Amino acid sequence: MAPNLKENDDNNVNHFKVKEFGFGTRAIHAGQDPDPSTGAVIPPISLSTTYKQSAIGVHKGYEYSRSSNPNRSAFEESIASLEKGKFALAFSSGSATTATIVTSIGTNGHIISVDDVYGGTNRYFTKVAGTQGIEVTFVNLLDPKNIEDAFKHNTKIVWIETPTNPTLRLIDIKAVANITHQHNAILVVDNTFMSPYFQNPLELGADIVVHSVTKYINGHSDVVMGVAIMNDGEIYNKIKFLQNAIGAVPSSFDSWLASRGLKTLHLRMRQHQENATKIAKFLEKSGKVEQVIYPGLESHPQHLLAKKQARGFGGMLSFRIKGGFKEADGFLKNIKIFTLAESLGGVESLAEHPARMTHASLSEEHRNAVGVTDNLIRLSVGVEDVDDLLEDIQQALDIAVQD
Ligand SMILES: *Cc1c(COP(=O)(O)O)cnc(C)c1O
Repeated sequence: MAPNLKENDDNNVNHFKVKEFGFGTRAIHAGQDPDPSTGAVIPPISLSTTYKQSAIGVHKGYEYSRSSNPNRSAFEESIASLEKGKFALAFSSGSATTATIVTSIGTNGHIISVDDVYGGTNRYFTKVAGTQGIEVTFVNLLDPKNIEDAFKHNTKIVWIETPTNPTLRLIDIKAVANITHQHNAILVVDNTFMSPYFQNPLELGADIVVHSVTKYINGHSDVVMGVAIMNDGEIYNKIKFLQNAIGAVPSSFDSWLASRGLKTLHLRMRQHQENATKIAKFLEKSGKVEQVIYPGLESHPQHLLAKKQARGFGGMLSFRIKGGFKEADGFLKNIKIFTLAESLGGVESLAEHPARMTHASLSEEHRNAVGVTDNLIRLSVGVEDVDDLLEDIQQALDIAVQD
């Protein structure tokens, strides 16, 4: 029998007792009770857009599917539990999550963002929020104190990612949270790269955690979706209002798929990390590689911070191949199991060239400032047999870099 995970049956709050069960048990059971009407162990996909009321305003917690629906609620409850938050709100993409949160600060607000934030977030901040009267300052946060000078009287949000993409720089979440709160702003942490399995920013002082569910949480490269998790009821109500009012919500089917993906998050993350660690060490020994960037390596300049604020190092790594664009191109043309593609976090291994692919929209100056050089290659290490991945990397390096 499934453990009795619910505190009560109020549909409007995420109320799973977060501390009672281990991560794997919560991943499989939180928000995933068998369907009470049939006993179905896997909740059905609820496609109805509207819900019967027995009298005016009397219903079972659902009125209209944009406002909420059972599959979305189930997903929100599970992910809230895994991020150790009280509330979660799901959106149609990670980007829609960002847009909705930014809208919540109103016009004339100011945002401080880490300088190597996800490219789409950078684009939203500069090309969309900017036209709506919101000002954004980008800051290098390798030293959290750098943030001090960026605050203005109207700073509402500090927005960070750690590790950053694609150069895997770490930011001290606790230190940034403290400074942010001294200035009466809120800290948003994009936790996409670590997933809740390895890092829980709310416990380190973040006010909102966001994820591109598209990546590790769904994990199978077949859903685009996002989510925000928070503890503060006021922030929750504000963003919940906008979730419904703006309406960038995920479909029932996508919510159902993401819930299915979530159930194996712990298994996948362990394997992603095991494979990434072996590949990082292998690349570090290769004479055809100039530098390997992986927070789990002792050579990573912030390895100690990684150990302090996270429970693991994830499945993303970047390396600089010996040479330049030609060698990187040669490697990416010749890998066979790794697929040359953007995105990350799926079970299959992917490789990409940040300078010409995911980060092509940045100016050359900005790319140089954040270390996105022409010989940089980013790997999203999947969960295939690691020996096959190592062999694939070796043969592609052999073709790309001549001794
Ligand atoms: C992919 C990604 C996003 C955007 O999410 P979408 O679901 O593609 O809209 C935001 N942040 C990070 C770190 C990402 O990798």
